[in-house]
Amino acid sequence: MQNITTVSSAVADVSARITAACERVGRNPQEVTLIAVSKTMPVEAIREAMECGMVDFGENRPQELRDKQAEITEPLRWHMIGALQTNKLKYVIGKTTLIHSVDSVHLAEAIEEMSAKKGLVTEVLLEINIAGEDSKHGISPEDSEQLVRDVAKFSHIKIRGLMTVAPYTEDAEENRVYFRKMKQLMVDINSKNIDNVYMDVLSMGMTGDYEIAVEEGATLVRVGTGIFGHRVYLPKE
Ligand SMILES: *Cc1c(COP(=O)(O)O)cnc(C)c1O
Repeated sequence: MQNITTVSSAVADVSARITAACERVGRNPQEVTLIAVSKTMPVEAIREAMECGMVDFGENRPQELRDKQAEITEPLRWHMIGALQTNKLKYVIGKTTLIHSVDSVHLAEAIEEMSAKKGLVTEVLLEINIAGEDSKHGISPEDSEQLVRDVAKFSHIKIRGLMTVAPYTEDAEENRVYFRKMKQLMVDINSKNIDNVYMDVLSMGMTGDYEIAVEEGATLVRVGTGIFGHRVYLPKE
């Protein structure tokens, strides 16, 4: 974990790079929100980022989210960015701003049911495996329109957009083509005029490639290492 001056200078640096990327392509920097991915990081690290004005935080494990929310009661915007099992939804529904990782009707059905029970509308992104990697979650671009149509029927879910985790690469430029495909996919789906569907959120870009993602239209970038330093994974209990 980095100390407070490191976290605040990292947040300032990442924010400046986002602004510069916007300027290169004529976008308004206000269109892009930086999410600090705080998975594995202690509560103190989150507090340090809060002190430099961060309000959007990303977590990928429901129980870790629950534990952090028990300690941090300030009104933050929590994003669920990891794979979700339906039996963990109780830690997520009504407790997060946005679920980025919906990739099946089965999961959407469970979100619908719990949201209805709680009298909520849950906002979600559909996760796309844009490069067709075997190791990645998400649906293929080809299957995405059908999933949009199926999920759009649920009255307690609002589809806000699409999310992807691009391939790991040393050269971020290699991911430009995938970010461009994501943007085009969103435009294509919007053009089908599906009832209840208008998407304007694109969650893409991580520490290694967020500047390219912003140039290609990202509205949410998810940066962990670039803000908090390297993660140390402890064995799962
Ligand atoms: C961990 C994670 C990130 C952040 O990755 P960094 O490379 O550390 O910025 C972003 N998105 C998802 C879905 C993640 O799991």
